[in-house]
Amino acid sequence: MPTAKGCVKVEKGTVALTEYELGDPGPGQILVHPTLTTICGSDIHMVDDIPDVPQGTPMGHEAVGIVEAIGDGVNTVAVGDRIVMSCLQSCGECHTCSQGDLSICETFAAPMNLVLGAQADLVMINGADHSVAPLPPSVDDRAGVLVSDVLSTGFGACERGGVRPGSTVAIFAQGPVGLCATLGAKYYGAERIIVVESIPQRIEMARSFGATDVVSPDTAVESILEQTGGRGGDVAIEALGKQITFENCCKVARFGGTISSVGVYGGIDALSLPTDGTFIHRSLVMTFCPAGRERLEFLLGLIDAGRVDPTPLFTHELRLDAVVEAYDLFRSRRDGVMKVALR
Ligand SMILES: [Zn+2]
Ligand SMILES: [Zn+2]
Repeated sequence: MPTAKGCVKVEKGTVALTEYELGDPGPGQILVHPTLTTICGSDIHMVDDIPDVPQGTPMGHEAVGIVEAIGDGVNTVAVGDRIVMSCLQSCGECHTCSQGDLSICETFAAPMNLVLGAQADLVMINGADHSVAPLPPSVDDRAGVLVSDVLSTGFGACERGGVRPGSTVAIFAQGPVGLCATLGAKYYGAERIIVVESIPQRIEMARSFGATDVVSPDTAVESILEQTGGRGGDVAIEALGKQITFENCCKVARFGGTISSVGVYGGIDALSLPTDGTFIHRSLVMTFCPAGRERLEFLLGLIDAGRVDPTPLFTHELRLDAVVEAYDLFRSRRDGVMKVALR
């Protein structure tokens, strides 16, 4: 039976590198050897804030790698292929997959269709024909791995918020997802991209990704309203997962505008809407990462064509053996850390 060496949640707040067994791939499944993986804000939430994530859970959902073994019925990938996985697995056949939203597949929804165990030397992927895509030779591992989750989530925040040419977009926080939303807003033709951030390295990257204005978190609402003639933005994107940023999004989305939330509200019992009138005539969209093979291929195509380059997000690189150190670094936001590449 194949054995993986990977990062698992030991207890609240702690991860460790351990060995665990994986079965042989069953129908529709593939075993992948990740060549590059990374840590995500939602990994930190799963380890630190979300008590429902049990001890021993294999961590990590973003990776590129080589297919090591395939189960019955897998038709579109073969052993030895270089692939990127979607962070959310899809069967391609259930009610929601058939309706076209592969990110909320019902078949692998126990409790979520999130990939588990990508921070390892082997990981099992369900629904491989719908959940992975081959990497074009010109797309390197660093660019490829960002397609698994953050680039798709950031672009998705813009798509589902209805960003279009000429839009004014406000984006709360410029962590990896927020920065990918900035890339998305630029790609979809937003005229003004106002980002809320205080960390200098993140501000600098936001500007290089297309932000037109930067405002401080302390005065975000006043500043954004002032800069938009009191009207607010067409779309306000929440990419942090906190009550205050959600509330501020509601306050800076214009009358008739859209609040597009992709933050993970870990450790919050209830999220509340301000009742000062900003809940009237706004659309509220709460989604996560658009998933599935076609989605991966769309984003890989943009990278391949040089239309989008998310790779500056990588600020650090470590070996998988140093995964505990990598979690500490990522959690601390030290050294301007953004994304940590784990090889
Ligand atoms: Zn992620
Ligand atoms: Zn499905």
